[in-house]
Amino acid sequence: MPIALYPGTFDPVHYGHIDIATRASALFDRLIIAIYDSPVNKRVLFPTEERVALMEKAVCHLPNVEVVSYNGLTVHFARQVGAHVIVRGLRTLADFEFEFQLAMTNQKLAPEIDMVTLVTRSEYAYLSASILKEVAGLGGDISEMTPPHVQEALRRRFAELGSPPGRQVPKARLRDQRKPGLELPHTSGGR
Ligand code: ADP
Repeated sequence: MPIALYPGTFDPVHYGHIDIATRASALFDRLIIAIYDSPVNKRVLFPTEERVALMEKAVCHLPNVEVVSYNGLTVHFARQVGAHVIVRGLRTLADFEFEFQLAMTNQKLAPEIDMVTLVTRSEYAYLSASILKEVAGLGGDISEMTPPHVQEALRRRFAELGSPPGRQVPKARLRDQRKPGLELPHTSGGR
């Protein structure tokens, strides 16, 4: 069975991501979770090393999964690590349009690499890292969205930023980062 790459920003990891990683790890011999590390056009709450550490802890029960960070085109990184498949999660129709375009472009760039999309479980269909951060920043209950160590990291991070629950983080304090998956200059938008 081939090696699969699961790329994303994972800022931070939540149960929707963990579910996709768990299911993909059962489908492939090895799953490499690749955390995108380029501060262009997308604001991130957590530095790369912390996003990697939070993800490592979240998937430490999955023996065939490793977590790394990367830069540049996702298909180039996939080739570099010998991955034959790129795994993505699918939530909504909007996700589909974006993922379809991404898959077509990746096919042009690296026809030997296939993209496999796993449909989210219904309980996570609403969940994104942005929603998680927004609820956490406003002091809401995030216990059904992300594991305890990530909940704690969010509390700590918002406290560091001087944004206790109930106040939003000033946008200027978040670093910039682009959406992963393709990493071409024209794919800077989110979904
Ligand atoms: P988010 O969309 O939560 O900010 P990323 O952009 O880092 O996360 O997403 C990385 C991958 O995980 C993408 O393929 C995305 O579609 C998938 N994903 C994100 N949230 C979910 C979810 N709730 N269910 C299934 N897949 C998801």
